[in-house]
Amino acid sequence: MAETADIVVVGGGCIGASIALHLAERKAGKVLLLEQKELANGASGKGIGIIRTHYTHPVLAELAYRSLQLFHHFKERFGGHDAGFYPCGYYILVGESDVETLGSIVSMHQPLGINVRLVSPDEAQAEVPFLRIDDVAAAAYEPDSGYGSPPLTTIALANRARELGAEIRTHTPVLNIQLDLEGRVEAVVTPTGAIATRTVIDCVGPWAKQFTAPLGLPFPVKPVVEHVVVMERPADYAASHPVVSDLVNLCYIRSDAGQPYTRIGNSDPKYHPQFSLDSADDFNGQRFPNICETLRQKLIHRCPVLGTAPTVETYSGIWGITPDYQPIIDRLNHVPGLYCAVGFSGHGYKLSPIVGDLMSQFVLGDVNEQVHLLDIFRFSRFQDNNLVKPPISYANAGGLR
Ligand SMILES: Cc1cc2nc3c(=O)[nH]c(=O)nc-3n(C[C@H](O)[C@H](O)[C@H](O)COP(=O)(O)OP(=O)(O)OC[C@H]3O[C@@H](n4cnc5c(N)ncnc54)[C@H](O)[C@@H]3O)c2cc1C
Repeated sequence: MAETADIVVVGGGCIGASIALHLAERKAGKVLLLEQKELANGASGKGIGIIRTHYTHPVLAELAYRSLQLFHHFKERFGGHDAGFYPCGYYILVGESDVETLGSIVSMHQPLGINVRLVSPDEAQAEVPFLRIDDVAAAAYEPDSGYGSPPLTTIALANRARELGAEIRTHTPVLNIQLDLEGRVEAVVTPTGAIATRTVIDCVGPWAKQFTAPLGLPFPVKPVVEHVVVMERPADYAASHPVVSDLVNLCYIRSDAGQPYTRIGNSDPKYHPQFSLDSADDFNGQRFPNICETLRQKLIHRCPVLGTAPTVETYSGIWGITPDYQPIIDRLNHVPGLYCAVGFSGHGYKLSPIVGDLMSQFVLGDVNEQVHLLDIFRFSRFQDNNLVKPPISYANAGGLR
């Protein structure tokens, strides 16, 4: 076994790239990131990229807030590379049944330092003039939030990791993890040979279940297809608009900076079982029947000026969902030397900068208050029936919030 590495990161999405970068920054020795295809081949290639701090769980809100700060200073912080971050502001709209919940969440966020305030639906409409608000009972606004480009961010993080000494190798699938006689990580096996290492970080996203199944670690991560519809706004409304999370209709929308396009994605958990695949390898960009038309109708409902607007594009991506919609970030005591950061369930992009920072500290053995924020994402929570549970939840949004 000629080749060796101190740490092998498996998976070149935004999470793997961020972890590799932060490890390289912390001078963790020879860090090697192996990606089976191109960077951002999975969820990170198709994500809609919304960056907000609105979470019902305080730990997630804090992580999102810290990540948001990193996005605001991305270029200075990460060697001049660009994440495509566009802080266009973020509205969350709720119906009658969620008014109290929204108020409690805003009150929970403000002491964390998050710049958020309750606004009237009229105020939201003044900012986004084509919004329909007759079914909106309350709203909140985060002026510092917005969206970024997940593929651009992944490449930026990987490029920075490379500059700091990490090696990024694409078209190199890890076929399996080899263990020594005591069951500890000994090597990763690729088509071109084995690479000896004592530390592997599994960042394979929606491939998580199949990747570690041979080790007796079948991760509860379901690959699910997520659809996106893009429509062109009429000329009178061509200016970009803030991101809108619509918890009345369970969808999210964002514009494209400098383009008259609005994108919509689904946030109704009832669809997820219908759109799940047995294996992430079965994903080929397929669109399930009817959902794109449903999304189009949801968008027209919220933005009636789009009633006769052309649909510019429909597409799909894949994400890996866990039973509580939260990631699994841990050291796997079953297999000494193996760590994981998978199952980001449709909201991992916004968390990727901070997760890379904290996970690199965790792997290198640093223990501090910030690293302990990751404790709620431990692998054993599924066996212990101790899923991540926010103190307060929206009526129909499930764990996505
Ligand atoms: C349509 C859509 C909209 C989204 N919208 C948002 C949003 O608005 N905001 C937000 O925060 N998040 C959003 N997400 C979710 C977000 O994109 C993901 O949570 C995030 O990209 C996960 O990154 P990851 O690195 O964990 O996984 P991935 O990006 O899936 O990366 C995993 C990588 O591992 C590689 N891999 C797998 N097996 C192997 C192997 N054996 N060897 C080597 N490499 C391997 C894959 O090829 C892949 O590149 C969205 C996702 C989709 C699909």
